[in-house]
Amino acid sequence: MKTVFLDRDGVINKDNGYVFEIDNFEFIDGVFDSFRYLQRKGYNLIIVTNQSGIGRGRYTLEDFNILNNWMLQEFQKKGVTNIDVFFCPHKPEDNCKCRKPNTGMFEAASLKYKIDNNSSWMIGDKDIDIEAALNFGIKNTILVKSIHKAENSENSAKFVIPSIKTISNYIK
Ligand SMILES: [Mg+2]
Ligand SMILES: [Zn+2]
Repeated sequence: MKTVFLDRDGVINKDNGYVFEIDNFEFIDGVFDSFRYLQRKGYNLIIVTNQSGIGRGRYTLEDFNILNNWMLQEFQKKGVTNIDVFFCPHKPEDNCKCRKPNTGMFEAASLKYKIDNNSSWMIGDKDIDIEAALNFGIKNTILVKSIHKAENSENSAKFVIPSIKTISNYIK
């Protein structure tokens, strides 16, 4: 199954820093259209998101789940249905296998779904997103340049684009 893996914060919603409340979750312009486009093209959508705010005690697992369920409902309302979410609740010091750039979330996804790496993509807004995909064996990578404090080398990704809005120019 061809799959588009997506980071969440900074790709789907504006990265306002430890986003865990519905009121602070702002969908990025064009995300619904882009997701419907990818769905029409036969892609499965899988969100892989580092949520160290849970491990750091900034918010709880329940907070994450409430927001996550709400987000999925919003997608559903807009006709985006083939979408799933994998998350890492750990903090960097935990040295877990799932926090990107590690590949644990990709591996969990590939146990649940049959994923064809060659026809799959990763869309992220940080180098670690791209690295994680490359570590897992997905070579088709897109770095979206959101307004982000993190420094991105922009070297590792196949394409660097301003926003997910223009995704149909890259993923055919
Ligand atoms: Mg991000
Ligand atoms: Zn983890």
